[in-house]
Amino acid sequence: MVFIVMSSDGEDCSAFLRAELEQVKKEVPRIENVKLIAAVPLLVRAEIKKTEHKQVAVTCMFQPAYPAEPLVTELRSKTLADRFLDGLAKVCDTEARKLKGKPQVLHVINFVKTFIEENTLCVCSEEISTIKRLLTGDKDEIKLKQKASELVVKVHQEQYFLHIKISVPDNYPLVQITPELTEHNFPAFLYTHFKAQAAEIARRCVQPPLKKNPNQSPFVPKPSLLPTCEYLIECVKKYPLEKCQLCHERALPVDPLTESTQRGRQIEKVYCGHLFHFMCLNKFMKTPPFAEGKQCPTCGKQIFHDKWKVSSEVMETRWAHKQARQRELEEVADFME
Ligand SMILES: [Zn+2]
Ligand SMILES: [Zn+2]
Repeated sequence: MVFIVMSSDGEDCSAFLRAELEQVKKEVPRIENVKLIAAVPLLVRAEIKKTEHKQVAVTCMFQPAYPAEPLVTELRSKTLADRFLDGLAKVCDTEARKLKGKPQVLHVINFVKTFIEENTLCVCSEEISTIKRLLTGDKDEIKLKQKASELVVKVHQEQYFLHIKISVPDNYPLVQITPELTEHNFPAFLYTHFKAQAAEIARRCVQPPLKKNPNQSPFVPKPSLLPTCEYLIECVKKYPLEKCQLCHERALPVDPLTESTQRGRQIEKVYCGHLFHFMCLNKFMKTPPFAEGKQCPTCGKQIFHDKWKVSSEVMETRWAHKQARQRELEEVADFME
């Protein structure tokens, strides 16, 4: 003998659920960018797709005592970070709890859809957390402008600073970010260098190299936000403390405002990337030995610089002339004594 025991509550509940599932089947397909996958007494599943990289599958699971017990929401995505999805799922549970005793599915699905649409930077949430960890200074900051799909990063090192405005395009990461260096107090040559390098790093993330290597797997665009910011943050942290490779004093003045007033203290950046005072480098380049060309005393790389482009023979001759002139002067001095 089989007894089927069903409380009146249970009957109410399934009638309630049936009505809600009907409503879900009717309403969800009408929501833009949302596709209903399943609507059964165990769960409702829908797929939300804003762009290729802003896609999420929402599963709302009914608990035995639903709707007295809230829905449990599970979010899955191939492109959005797990940490972001876990956080959003928790908020969904809170939303469902607010509607205890009432239909919850439509509200939760709409909530996720609106959240993904309004939080445009969700597509780079992991990169943003890493950038936050790189900003270690007291005055450093990062501001997210979700509506404009922009972020502003302010990096400091002692008295030097750089502000970067970054626009994240809608079809990120297939399309690169655009870094804009809005404010800074670095010498112009360093600013130009930062700007060009940052643009190049971002470009390389999405454009395949011109020279194709047949052994390499096909090119896939990579997220460009983190590598670009990492580079710029490192520059700001590093350059103000960098030393002249010859006199071992700081290359940049401690106070950025004194830059133009000290003659011979202008900074030269050579091929290897090391910094030198103009005065120190000039003396070094014009002093023998010349035969092997001049190497950076720190990393040993050849020094190429437009200002000292003359060959070693010319340098040798100039040096000899200068020495001869010096001797002549000394001889004259001797004679006068
Ligand atoms: Zn120096
Ligand atoms: Zn070097």
